[in-house]
Amino acid sequence: MQHPTGKEVIIIGAGIGGLTFALALHQQGIPCRIYESVSEIKPLGVGLNLLPHAMKALAGLGLEQALLAKGRETREYSFFTSHGQLVHREPRGKFAGYPWPQVSIHRGDLQMTLLAAVEERLGPGVIRLGHRCTGVNQGPHGVTVLLEDAATGVALAPVRGRTVVACDGVHSAIRKQFHPTEAKPRYQGSTQWRGVTRAKPFMSGASMAYVGTYRTGKLITYPIRDNIDGQGTQLINWVIEYAKPEEEERDWNRVGRVEDFIHLFEDCHFDWLDVPAMLRAADAVYEYPMVDQDPLQFWTVGGVTLLGDAAHPMMPRGSNGAAQAIIDATVLADLLATMDNPHDALKIYEEKRLKATGDVVLANREIAPDAILLVVEERTGGQPFARIEDVISQEELQEWQERYKRVAGFDSGSLGNGNTAA
Ligand SMILES: Cc1cc2nc3c(=O)[nH]c(=O)nc-3n(C[C@H](O)[C@H](O)[C@H](O)COP(=O)(O)OP(=O)(O)OC[C@H]3O[C@@H](n4cnc5c(N)ncnc54)[C@H](O)[C@@H]3O)c2cc1C
Repeated sequence: MQHPTGKEVIIIGAGIGGLTFALALHQQGIPCRIYESVSEIKPLGVGLNLLPHAMKALAGLGLEQALLAKGRETREYSFFTSHGQLVHREPRGKFAGYPWPQVSIHRGDLQMTLLAAVEERLGPGVIRLGHRCTGVNQGPHGVTVLLEDAATGVALAPVRGRTVVACDGVHSAIRKQFHPTEAKPRYQGSTQWRGVTRAKPFMSGASMAYVGTYRTGKLITYPIRDNIDGQGTQLINWVIEYAKPEEEERDWNRVGRVEDFIHLFEDCHFDWLDVPAMLRAADAVYEYPMVDQDPLQFWTVGGVTLLGDAAHPMMPRGSNGAAQAIIDATVLADLLATMDNPHDALKIYEEKRLKATGDVVLANREIAPDAILLVVEERTGGQPFARIEDVISQEELQEWQERYKRVAGFDSGSLGNGNTAA
């Protein structure tokens, strides 16, 4: 058994939260080791968005330029009805006056950027691959982390530490140990297909477009890599959400089929985008159910706590899954650096983050940015409108967006200098 050394932190999981946490600890001079179940870290997933509050944290770790070089700085959001009528448009990130950009990026590019920084700054040996955590024991000598070989299931030598942080995602073993009677994930009755297509830019070439609602078929699309062939082609990310009675298991790598949703978009030949052509030309399609879990009563037991999706799995809406994990990571590293007793640091972290992230979980059910399109659909009965002003006022449209930003912690008041006027 390896014994704890000073302030060293053991991290379970080398996803977005675990790698960011390792970098934040290193910046504070705190050593760490990461135990990750996969045998090789591959650039999996498709696109996600780094909102200005996440970019503030990542910029503090010196990663702003590296991420901007890989992703696409988002300029604006545009919201359309399923008939293609414009409901609302607003600038984003630095284009809205924030000191930090919003960056649309392939999850794999984000994870590989974090991984490269971890290996460069902390050394390659800091991540132990193929080690799956099965639980923890705690006693007077600290925390014992139980591990198995992820390929064979054979038990490996346990490791011991003073502080252990579970960054092991939506199927967290430690969350299950702390909350054995927790209800099963809550299915909202719709599923999400995510994909990427190589195509010419649409709108500004840095726009995110929302079209329609999940009741009739919703599309969200935005570029995540620029000029991938030297001739201006972009890698365009798209997400479809649609009602589906049967619920699938949460598996980020489950392959989806265009045939299951293309019929919803056959007539969507907008002057700015040919939607069916984009969907048909996909490189990859994945399917993920719209599920979340109710906020927990506690994350921390003694020297162990939860971070990221392990702590607050949320519906992938509103671009906050990665963002909240990144913010957890920097908040906890700061507390561990400034407080003498790590148990106290974990408790304060929970006080600062549990309610804040729980509010985002709940907001994603009702008031995510594009839920405004549900409001418009209800008021118009799903029919085209003559003038948007007759359906909803500019003030209401802006307040809807501001409310979500306040809950998620990236309103102008929280971040400073944000001018969200359209
Ligand atoms: C393969 C994959 C693809 C994804 N694709 C997308 C996407 O396209 N769009 C999107 O918005 N979000 C995607 N996500 C989710 C997104 O990364 C998270 O919602 C968010 O970034 C929060 O990060 P996290 O570190 O909490 O969780 P994750 O990024 O999911 O990381 C969890 C890590 O823990 C590891 N792990 C799990 N169980 C154990 C264990 N018992 N012991 C040791 N290690 C363990 C996992 O292998 C993983 O590396 C994906 C996640 C994964 C794992």
